[in-house]
Parts: sequence; structure tokens; C-alpha cells
Amino acid sequence: MQQSISAQDSSFQYWKDPDIQNIGDTAVEFLNKLHGPTHIHISGNDPSRCRAVVTLLHGNEPSGFHAIFDPLKRQIKPVVDIHYFIPSVDAAKQAPGFIYRMLPHQKDLNRCFSTPFGDTEQDLLAQDLLENLKSFNPESVIDIHNTSGSSPSFGVTTFMDERHDALVSLFTHRTIVTDLPLGSLMEISRFMMPTVTIECGGAQDIASNVMAIEGLTKYISYANVLTLEHTDMSLEFFHNPLRLELLEGSDIAYGDHCLMTDGVTLLPEIEDFNFGFVNPDTRLGFVSGELDSNLTVRDARGRERLQDYFRLSDGELYPLRTLKLFMVTTNPEIARKDCLFYLIEEPAD
Ligand SMILES: [Zn+2]
Repeated sequence: MQQSISAQDSSFQYWKDPDIQNIGDTAVEFLNKLHGPTHIHISGNDPSRCRAVVTLLHGNEPSGFHAIFDPLKRQIKPVVDIHYFIPSVDAAKQAPGFIYRMLPHQKDLNRCFSTPFGDTEQDLLAQDLLENLKSFNPESVIDIHNTSGSSPSFGVTTFMDERHDALVSLFTHRTIVTDLPLGSLMEISRFMMPTVTIECGGAQDIASNVMAIEGLTKYISYANVLTLEHTDMSLEFFHNPLRLELLEGSDIAYGDHCLMTDGVTLLPEIEDFNFGFVNPDTRLGFVSGELDSNLTVRDARGRERLQDYFRLSDGELYPLRTLKLFMVTTNPEIARKDCLFYLIEEPAD
């Protein structure tokens, strides 16, 4: 069915201008036609310019994939050439579909984009993607994700200027500006092309696919996506969030009473605080044992800040001050491997 995919010196299968007959009737059918990491190249009206889109770095975050499928199905001709990179096809295809962030025992692909590069399959795939971006040299890159819990949409950038603001504002009005180095794709902004992460909200939220499709349609249709002339929306900025992480040896569960004899239990409704405030009276959960032997909050310089933000009272976990939370997950796997949530301090007014 995919005669147009040709082998290249890349782990990405290259598919130029797929025929509408060959992409299936739904995004899931489309996914099942892909074999491993895929690069779809769509010819635009001006082939001298190009833009890139990356999605499914995480296999359980399907909104970006829905967004790619929609204009393909509607046969929208983009204004410039568009390169879609879809790395975690194999993880996404695992039944029942879009469940695995990555395959078991694989590294998180969106932590593999900074030097020194490792040598696992995921590290090599990340380097391959970077080589593709270098050779096609798109004027911008959008990396589309879903939050692991239910959440409003937001953009994330490591770089503040009009180009990055303009890219985020195609999708959403909230921007998190971070200088925490994690090895994520958007960190290439410093030495390559403007690159932003778009977090569409939860994979289960219907609004997530809608915003991804609307934003992507603008991205492939507007003559200029790097200046703010296309929007009168003002962006809301959240600077330098910190991450609450589990320490090695600790573990996490979610419930309305303490479930761990040695570890952390967070309340299931903590997800409701995404982009909301918690204050010193907001009980977040329970910790068995010492706070600092279970949890850690490190700033961009690597300094431990846990005791500045959290306290234990009779085994119950409370913020020490008013905080805004986002990327709150109730998925223990993500909490273990990534973080429990991001936080910023709300300035006293
Ligand atoms: Zn993601």
C-alpha cells in the first residue's frame, strides 16, 4: 500500500505526498499503515521554504497525530513544504492504541536531545531526527504533545522572543518559559531553529484534538508564522517552573488515604489543580517517612529547594506557600519516571 515510502539512510521511513486513498479513513487506520518512525513530506505552494512538525515523541499523546491526519484527509495544500516526523509509531500502535508513552524498557525519547548523546535505540532515533532537521533546515519546528492528566492547553519554550511567542500563539495563549535542561527537543532552539512544545491538554479531553487541528491548520497555511502579526491574543507567561520528583527508592500511589508504608500518596483530585492554585491549607497527600528522603525539587542550578515549597504535618503533605501547579499527573508510571508535577511560586501581591 505504501509504494511511495522509500528507504533512506535514516531510521525514519520517508513518505512523500501520501495519496488520500492510502491513509485510511481515521487517524487510527492511518497509524496502522505506518511501520516504525515515519517522515511524511508534504509539498507546499512554495517548495523553497519548509516547516517541521514532530508528534508522537510520546506514543500515548495522540492529539498531534490527529492534527496531522485532518489536513491530509482534507487535502489542504500547505503554503510551504511541511515535514512531519512521527517517531514513536511502534509504542503508539501497541493495543489498544496510544497507551504506551514508550515501549517498556525504552528511554523517554524527549529526554534524548542534548549532548552527550547516549547510544540506546532512543538516543540514536533522537540524533537521527536532529540530522533530518539539520538537512531540511525548516524555518521552525512544532512539537505536539498531550499532558498526562486533564489540563488546559499551553506552550513550552526555552527561548523568549517574538518568533517563539508567535508559534505558541497559533495554538494557545499560555506559555511556560523554562531553563531546566532536560534533553527535550525544544532545547535545540538555542543553536538551531525556533522550536516550541505544544501541550494540547489531556489525551482524553475532546478539546485537545480540536485545538491541535486548529493550530496546525494555521501553522501550515499562514505565510508567516514567526511574527505576532497573525494574532491579537496576548500571551500569559509562566516563568521557570520547578519539578517535584520522586527520589530513587521511594514510590507513589494515588488515593484519599495513605497507601504507602514507605513512599508518597497523592490525592487523586490533585489533577484538578492544573493551572490552579494551592495554598498552605491545601492538603496534597501523604508521605510515610521523611519528606527529603522521598521527594526532591531542584532548581536550574541543581540546588535542592524542597523545603522552600513543601512541609509535612503529621504525615500529610502541604505546600509551604501559594503555588501554581501544572503538568499534574495521576499516572504513577509518569510520576516515577518523569515528575509528579511542575510548580511555580505565585508572587505575593
Ligand atoms: Zn509528551
